[in-house]
Amino acid sequence: MQDRYAVIGNPIEHSKSPLIHSIFAKQTGERLIYDRVLGDLEHFEQDAARFFQQGGRGLNVTVPFKERAWRLATSLGDEAQRAGAVNTLLPMPDESLRGENTDGIGLVRDLAVNHNFLLSGCRILLLGAGGAASGIAGPLLEQGPERLFIANRNPSKAEYLAGRLAPLGNIDWGSLEDLEGQQFDLIINSTAAGLSGEIPTVPEGIIAPGGWAYDLMYASKPTAFVDWGKSQGAARSLDGLGMLVEQAAESFFLWRGVRPETSSVIALLSTT
Ligand code: NDP
Repeated sequence: MQDRYAVIGNPIEHSKSPLIHSIFAKQTGERLIYDRVLGDLEHFEQDAARFFQQGGRGLNVTVPFKERAWRLATSLGDEAQRAGAVNTLLPMPDESLRGENTDGIGLVRDLAVNHNFLLSGCRILLLGAGGAASGIAGPLLEQGPERLFIANRNPSKAEYLAGRLAPLGNIDWGSLEDLEGQQFDLIINSTAAGLSGEIPTVPEGIIAPGGWAYDLMYASKPTAFVDWGKSQGAARSLDGLGMLVEQAAESFFLWRGVRPETSSVIALLSTT
């Protein structure tokens, strides 16, 4: 029997994870099945437990269950511990359930390896302070930027996140209005504004000369934030497809101990 994996979320039909993991499995010769599970908004914990009781070998967790998966896990990897959110669950031999967060490593790999962006010494603006921001802020700080500024519509959430990560580096926080007069070398959009075709309201001229824009969201056509980055003269304006594939590759590695090759998968998905 083949090992079973799945992604659980609500909604879930749109998820590209089954396609990505099936390509990884074919590429590496690993025999596995990867499904979608529509998690019940009230009974996520029971749905996840049933999946593992029935022999499931790993779950990816997506919106809106990452924080609940963090509470469900009986042990946590460092990134998950810090993020307060889990996107990968693994049953352990002692029957405990381990929670990991691969979003941050996925973003850093996409920027630093796939696009050769030097994070060390640069000024980064992170827009948004939700689940995705919690997962990526720590790994970004570990790359040694000059500063990381977290700006959120509700600034108290940015303050909370910055406070938790302060020991890792030069981190600051504020509201979107506080950005007036500032400039950054990399602006990352982790808000959900794009889901309704919007972008967070940020001042003109906020991208430093040669600076980049990066939207965590991805779509078959350029997202509103990618278009905004281009209109503001960003040297590169990227969407989050590369991060999606890289975070999936890290989950695959945690489950199977084999690291898939990602660039051909990103190239393939960019054209579908
Ligand atoms: P959350 O719901 O946890 O957080 C949403 C954030 O967006 C909050 O900070 C919220 O601010 C802010 N926000 C929502 N609407 C607006 C708006 N109109 N203007 C300004 N700010 C707004 O979502 P996640 O963090 O889980 O996900 C965010 C995005 O990242 C999604 O598009 C998701 O698809 C994408 N993502 C991509 C991944 C990838 O692999 N490429 C991985 C993970 C996420 P407030 O606190 O004020 O409400």
